[in-house]
Amino acid sequence: MATKQEYEPPSIQHLKAFGVSNVRLFCDAHACSHKATIGFEALNRSDQTVFSELRFRCSKCGSRSVSVQPEWPSHGVLYQVTVS
Ligand SMILES: [Zn+2]
Repeated sequence: MATKQEYEPPSIQHLKAFGVSNVRLFCDAHACSHKATIGFEALNRSDQTVFSELRFRCSKCGSRSVSVQPEWPSHGVLYQVTVS
């Protein structure tokens, strides 16, 4: 059923459905640039957790300004968008 709904932010469950199993973390603090990759299993969060609500703290410098991105599978095309 296609009903008009408000945009639903992707949850961990949505991202898993797209083949994502890890998140990449980038510390935004100047002169730190610590990077890490962590698996959803290690996060120990519910699959219903909205991805954009995940919050992290840099383990190197303690900054709370950490960018979070899904680690998209680097090979294969999951879907294509055709623009006419
Ligand atoms: Zn840092």
